[in-house]
Amino acid sequence: MKNNRIGMILVVSSLAVIALVMALLLQRQQDQHAQQVRVQGLGMVRSLAALPASVLVPSEGRPGVLDSVLAYRDNPDFAYAAVSAGDGRNLAEVASPGVVLPPAAPLAVTGFDERVVDAARSQRAIREFRGPLASDKGRLQVRIGYFEPRPLSGMKDLQFYALIALAVFLLVPLIYFVIKREMAPLAALGDQLAAIAASRSSAVAPAVAPISADQDVRGLATKLNRYLDQTSARIRELEQNSVASVSSSRLLEYGSNKMQAVLQCLPDGLLVLDPAGEVTFTTGKIEPLLGVPVDEVLSQPVETWCRDPELRGMLRRFRGAGSDSRSQMTIEFNPAGVPDKRLSVTAQPLHGHSMIYGTLVVLRDATREHLARQAGNDFVAHVSHELKSPLNVIAMYGEMLADAGATDPAVRVEAINVIQDEVDRMNSLVNNLLNVSKLEMGSMRPERHRVKLEELLRDAWQQARARADAKDIKLELQVARDIAAVSVDKDMFRIALNNLLNNAIKYNRAGGSVVLAADEADGEVVVSVRDSGIGMAPEDRARVTEKFFRVHETGPEQRGGHGLGLYLANQIVELHHGRLTIDSEPGHGSVFSIHLNKMPALAEGAHVL
Ligand code: ADP
Repeated sequence: MKNNRIGMILVVSSLAVIALVMALLLQRQQDQHAQQVRVQGLGMVRSLAALPASVLVPSEGRPGVLDSVLAYRDNPDFAYAAVSAGDGRNLAEVASPGVVLPPAAPLAVTGFDERVVDAARSQRAIREFRGPLASDKGRLQVRIGYFEPRPLSGMKDLQFYALIALAVFLLVPLIYFVIKREMAPLAALGDQLAAIAASRSSAVAPAVAPISADQDVRGLATKLNRYLDQTSARIRELEQNSVASVSSSRLLEYGSNKMQAVLQCLPDGLLVLDPAGEVTFTTGKIEPLLGVPVDEVLSQPVETWCRDPELRGMLRRFRGAGSDSRSQMTIEFNPAGVPDKRLSVTAQPLHGHSMIYGTLVVLRDATREHLARQAGNDFVAHVSHELKSPLNVIAMYGEMLADAGATDPAVRVEAINVIQDEVDRMNSLVNNLLNVSKLEMGSMRPERHRVKLEELLRDAWQQARARADAKDIKLELQVARDIAAVSVDKDMFRIALNNLLNNAIKYNRAGGSVVLAADEADGEVVVSVRDSGIGMAPEDRARVTEKFFRVHETGPEQRGGHGLGLYLANQIVELHHGRLTIDSEPGHGSVFSIHLNKMPALAEGAHVL
């Protein structure tokens, strides 16, 4: 298309140049002709002027020379010939048909001349040649007129046009080659755009028409426009995608933050290790559990932060994707950073799609369980011992009864008493165990009634007196007769009270004292058991109500026990919506106080147990 246009321009400009050359030739011919006419006209005038006037103006009835000039009428350029007088009158004349002679003009003094007669007066312009004619009739002039050659229209600017056509003729190929050269990179760009557009249009916008193979600027502009259209469509699409991905990344971020918050709230510590054994995630709980700050752990291999050989050994097994690292594993140890803690650590591989992404490590504080387990073991050993000792004593006194009991009444009485005491002890242990079991099964529910506290305490005091006397301990009761009534399960409350009184006697010294008292204060009734016994350290005081907890005895006197008395007492008080408080000082005795809500005053005649 572009080549066709250039070709057309070249043909048109060639034709123009040919036309102009021909026109120039014509003009040249015309100029030569005009020159010929001039030469001829001037020659003729001079020739005629040299003749005597009588020859040119013959007398009437006789032919003159001018008539013979008329013979030239065959010359198409000849217009007229005349001899004119000074007053403009024509003395003789000949003219081509249809030619009207122009009036004679005064002749210049210099002699021969020529003039162009106004073209409006005749059909064609006439060039007139004149010369003086010697005559006795005055000043005459001989005139001869020739038609001026017809001027070619626009011949004046012919050279200018010719130059322009020539310039165009020369410049068009030059410009063509220059444009072609300059367009080469643009054409390459166009091809590239076309290729991109074609690939994109097949992938993104199949509705776009294929780009033409035009290699000109218009083709390039079309390609560029299409490319820009497709690019802006693509940009819009990408913008939409970007908005969608920004919102989904926000959602993901929100989800991830939420998940992290959930994980951080877990009571257990979490560690995630990559397959190379480096920590990629951890929760803040590992610090109190392992005694290692979080920033020392994150992005670090296990060897740099772990001081516990048990944990290091376990995590080493999970490094890489070995087959034996696929099963879960749990260990327990006392971490070097927090030695009084017992940690249970479970490691398990994180796998999916037959790939191992790393290891999940869960660290749990197992101190309580460990202590409970230990206490349980101690308890079994202790209960066995507690049961075995009375059984041994019973067996021994049984033998004594069998041997000497029949004959010696004193031996018989002693044996029976001892056997009775041991049976009571065993009974108390078994009862405590049964009560604990009932408590934990939830089958021990208090049946609360309004109870006269003074009577309840006096009863318990009476029962404990024998044991206090046996240990040379003074047992006092300080309770007002009109002390406020309380709402309790009498039997259960007696278990709690007995356990406190037994302990006050048991952990006392000979000659010591125990006071059972009750007071009213701020809507509460406080029942207290005060002893002058061995007391206990603050850290033991905080734990004595735990199941199976016993203070480690260091003195010479080893008191038997099973760590259930205070646990039971505390549980029973709580079942009554009360509180058990302990005030104690090592070597200076203890005060155990039961705080119960006071009951509202009774209506007259109400039933009180
Ligand atoms: P136990 O059968 O060992 O007496 P308890 O639960 O009754 O179990 O008591 C728990 C621990 O509390 C005891 O081992 C003892 O060391 C301590 N204790 C309880 N009462 C007293 C007290 N009145 N004075 C000093 N220590 C006491």
